[in-house]
Amino acid sequence: MKYYSTNRSVPEVSLREAVVRGLAADRGLFMPERIDRLPDDFFNVIDKLSFQDIAVRVAQAFFGEDVEPKSLEAIVRDTLSFDTPAVEIEKDIYSLELFHGPTLAFKDVGARFMARLLQYFINKDSDGRTVNVLVATSGDTGSAVANGFLGVAGIHVYVLYPGGKVSPIQECQFTTLGRNITAIEVDGNFDDCQRLVKSAFLDEELNARMLLTSANSINVARFLPQAFYYFSGYAQLKAMGRDIVICVPSGNFGNITAGLIAHRMGLPIKRFIAANNANDIFYNYLLSGEYRPKASIPTLANAMDVGDPSNFARVLDLYEGKHDVISSLISGASFSDSRIAEAMNECFAKTGYVLDPHGACGYLALKEQLKEGETGLFLETAHPAKFRDTVSGIIGTEVDIPVRLGEFMKGEKKAVAMTARFSDFKSYLLDR
Ligand SMILES: *Cc1c(COP(=O)(O)O)cnc(C)c1O
Repeated sequence: MKYYSTNRSVPEVSLREAVVRGLAADRGLFMPERIDRLPDDFFNVIDKLSFQDIAVRVAQAFFGEDVEPKSLEAIVRDTLSFDTPAVEIEKDIYSLELFHGPTLAFKDVGARFMARLLQYFINKDSDGRTVNVLVATSGDTGSAVANGFLGVAGIHVYVLYPGGKVSPIQECQFTTLGRNITAIEVDGNFDDCQRLVKSAFLDEELNARMLLTSANSINVARFLPQAFYYFSGYAQLKAMGRDIVICVPSGNFGNITAGLIAHRMGLPIKRFIAANNANDIFYNYLLSGEYRPKASIPTLANAMDVGDPSNFARVLDLYEGKHDVISSLISGASFSDSRIAEAMNECFAKTGYVLDPHGACGYLALKEQLKEGETGLFLETAHPAKFRDTVSGIIGTEVDIPVRLGEFMKGEKKAVAMTARFSDFKSYLLDR
């Protein structure tokens, strides 16, 4: 299977190259050259299969030509060491809980898969050089990537984060791991971290001396595996025999785009809802047909604070830029912080279910837009304990911390202090 760039001005590349490069040379995003429809006999039995079995079948459709079947199956099963249950919240509204992975957010699936796929390619390579993954984080990405790659032989991960600007719960998830994970606490903000990483990728001397790669969320190995849980969500609701609507709290639009790809593979989803916080760029695009990126606005659902969603290019590519097609399959929604908080409160008071601020956008959009005869499933993208102080403050009840999160908090923090100057970061890497 080849991968083309959404900008279509460079030649197609192999899966391996798409994974190692992350972004195409013309700065487009990679897309698979074909999206095969899965056969009816798969959909007929899907509700009898485990999440892992479903995912193996879906993974074969994307990666089956490039990864040996046994290895691919092992990668998928090892990635999915947890389930994604659909939980009924109230009549016709279900939460697909994607937070049962090691760092309690859906990004675990893509990060774990990418780590294992990269390891597979490294093992096939005889030169045996360590691959260095550089990742800048404002909190969540760093923990998912660090935990996804933890203990994976042949790979070393450097997580750059702004000192004093991530929550203690987030910080402990990538500073206490040790082994092949190094946390670098930068004296600066998130933009400084991102600049250091970008400068490293552009630096000729560094790239001649070490193999560098990014584990950015646009990487096909992080993006495509997200299709797995749409199939699983459908499988769990199939018995209802009704029209299924999936609502996705969206920021960079990688997650929902994987859902659209599942739909293209024949998954019988009636329609999608993209739920935004106050960052309403996609919502406005659906209404007006015009895409106008803006500076991002900070909100309660901060993993969705994106003013120019990268994966918009993939959505356009999937539907040849046809606004009428896109807006008939996807509807939008945009919520202020006060609406998000209200929804969390109402849902908790009425049902006892604790939403996180991201999932709350999904819940709200379904409440507003679900029609008679439809069953709604929103993706609960993070565990509320990840945003414990915010959530407790809003619903007025302490949120329990799951055991695996508590374990991180017991670990000892280890981080390398770094200035925001690239020359310092570069000499540090060269000395390693
Ligand atoms: C990353 C993230 C999102 C947004 O997902 P996209 O793929 O960027 O649209 C939503 N919720 C949480 C908790 C996240 O970490």
